[in-house]
Amino acid sequence: MTNRPETPAREIRRAALQLGFAAVGFSSPPPRQQAAIHYRQMLEEGRHGEMAYLERGLAGRLEPHLLLPGVKTIVSLAISYHTPSRPEGVASSIARYARITDYHRVLRERAEALLEEIRHILGRRLEAYIAVDSAPVLEKEHAEQAGIGRTGKNTLLIVPSAGSHVFLAELLIDEAISEERPPLPNPCGSCSICMDACPTGALAAPGKLDATRCISYLTVELKRDFTPEESTIIGSMLFGCDACGELCPHNQRPLITADPAFAPITELFELDPEEILKLSRSQFKALFGGTPIWRIGLKRMKRNARAVLANLGRAVPATKSNTSTF
Ligand code: SF4
Ligand code: SF4
Repeated sequence: MTNRPETPAREIRRAALQLGFAAVGFSSPPPRQQAAIHYRQMLEEGRHGEMAYLERGLAGRLEPHLLLPGVKTIVSLAISYHTPSRPEGVASSIARYARITDYHRVLRERAEALLEEIRHILGRRLEAYIAVDSAPVLEKEHAEQAGIGRTGKNTLLIVPSAGSHVFLAELLIDEAISEERPPLPNPCGSCSICMDACPTGALAAPGKLDATRCISYLTVELKRDFTPEESTIIGSMLFGCDACGELCPHNQRPLITADPAFAPITELFELDPEEILKLSRSQFKALFGGTPIWRIGLKRMKRNARAVLANLGRAVPATKSNTSTF
């Protein structure tokens, strides 16, 4: 048996796996031209809804050197939040990724730790930029170019060893790291489970998500009150939606499962929308502080709860202005 020579890419991969990442890969900026075309098309067709930040960050997304002058490599990272199954018989109205600790801080800390390791491996001080979700980077495109996953028909990145229940982060560095990796196969083939499972028709075509009909967008991203149609679309979901990922074959038995930092918070499996409407500001913080739900605030969570109550045919308690003051 011959030992393969150690390369910076292999050393970085080993360090990343030791830090709990499920996958790591390397690509060179800028993203492929095709990605820019798809991104512009999404904006032109208005499929991003009212997420104006997707328009504002366009330049940085297409030109990573605007985020880090002299960037030579984008290190794409994925970490799993997949827990094997839900408790028996419980269909949660809170999406999986929100029933755990907010991933932003966890990912940033891990990425910072990896950056230190990379500096040690390369033996020099690197200029770097860490992107975790909110920074304008075409993260799925770079992850594909880096060979850590392929985007499925549900628009989620599918990592072969971990499925699509992963959070992504990127490290932009001013050092060229290259690695030969064979392209990953299309993860979907003739499957269309996610498109059939979407309750709202938001996945009208493979890989094309219309955010304006997506429960996840409406309950999490949309800041204003719902229109009557939007209110109906969200059905029984209080925050997010798992329908297009839950039945995906790649999520049934992934080899890599949730990082210990993402242990499920069992109190968040079953929430009564009526109880949400009764929450004070401090109770909201006690229940949701440190989770992704905290980010939308009590007012929007109550908006969601009122819509769910109405959709379930239950009475919606009257409030002074029908909105909270938070
Ligand atoms: S998150 Fe829900 S509503 Fe949005 S595309 Fe997936 S299944 Fe459809
Ligand atoms: S459910 Fe099927 S079509 Fe959808 S992303 Fe998964 S493999 Fe692809």
